[in-house]
Amino acid sequence: MRTIFPSPEVIHGHRPPVPVARKTSCEPIFSTQTANSLAMIIITRPDATEEQIQHIVSRVADWGLRAEVSRGEMRVVIGVIGAEDKIRQKPLGAFPGVESVMPVLKPYKLVSYEFRGTASRVKVGDVVVGAKEVVVMAGPCSVESEDQILSIAHSIRDSGAKILRGGAFKPRTSPYSFQGLGKVGLQLLAEARRESGLPIITEVMDTKDLELVAEYADCLQIGARNMQNFSLLREVGRTQIPVMLKRGMAASIKDLLMSAEYILSEGNFNVLLCERGIRTFETMTRNTLDLNAVPVLKAETHLPVVVDPTHGIGIRDFVPAMALAAVAAGADSIMIEVHNAPELAKSDGEQSLLPKDFDDLVRRVRGVAEAVGRAL
Ligand code: PEP
Ligand code: MN
Repeated sequence: MRTIFPSPEVIHGHRPPVPVARKTSCEPIFSTQTANSLAMIIITRPDATEEQIQHIVSRVADWGLRAEVSRGEMRVVIGVIGAEDKIRQKPLGAFPGVESVMPVLKPYKLVSYEFRGTASRVKVGDVVVGAKEVVVMAGPCSVESEDQILSIAHSIRDSGAKILRGGAFKPRTSPYSFQGLGKVGLQLLAEARRESGLPIITEVMDTKDLELVAEYADCLQIGARNMQNFSLLREVGRTQIPVMLKRGMAASIKDLLMSAEYILSEGNFNVLLCERGIRTFETMTRNTLDLNAVPVLKAETHLPVVVDPTHGIGIRDFVPAMALAAVAAGADSIMIEVHNAPELAKSDGEQSLLPKDFDDLVRRVRGVAEAVGRAL
């Protein structure tokens, strides 16, 4: 067992303590599951002093409201959230150092770009997602054996991947398909992390598995089929473990943002949003990778954006083209399925790249990243 979290603050009393997990980069912030929450942003003047900012934050806390401080290049933005009636009574504009105060009108309040006024960075292990560097995540669809995961972990690391993916709990369309190795899969991932030094991302499908998965994962993946599993979203929101939320295959961009709001509203701001393709009338590809979502999300939210071209197109030969396009469109990270013997893979072999093809993909993605002012 790793360290257990301190219980996050709960405004509405009766929820039992969560099966909680180890603490990561950010401290718990707040829970805002109130019927009528309001979010306001306080924009400070460029010459506001640190003392003035701290004064605002402590006053807001004295009022029983929560403040989230974001430091942009020019200004500090203080997002305030709490019960509407409480916030409305407070003279937020009266503090020294304040330039303006405005409500967040978007329904996804904490997720909205304006709540922070600057792009968020999310740390997965020691890897920062959302900075200049495009982060490549890679690995098999499912963890299958020690040899398989260790061999893939080493090869993708040597090619330039920074995060290892692999499913231990697999959401399969058929109940007769391979469902994942469960706890053994998590143990193998932990071994691969030890051996390769790469942090790991793995899926949690059910609230009952969260405590177990949280013991191992550096980042929790919530799969497309669970994007609107609101109880799961709330539970992962009560940890501080980074979460990658995948867009549901029939979900709009707004649906994705609203689902992310569930996680942030419980206090976990360490969220990545992942475009992984949606269902359309098209039958020549597994899904339709909606790269429109990338610039739209970058404008609407401060959260980093990941693209999964593998599930998005579902055909090995076409994955590299869509990976390049994703980075050109502004993705902060891409996730690629790689297998050392795709013909033997227990899931998604037809869309998994061989290690040598992945190596070539990373090289080409680096060129695009540099062309659009990023790095890799
Ligand atoms: C996966 O990443 O292997 C996966 C199951 O993805 P999705 O939830 O997007 O189908
Ligand atoms: Mn898969």
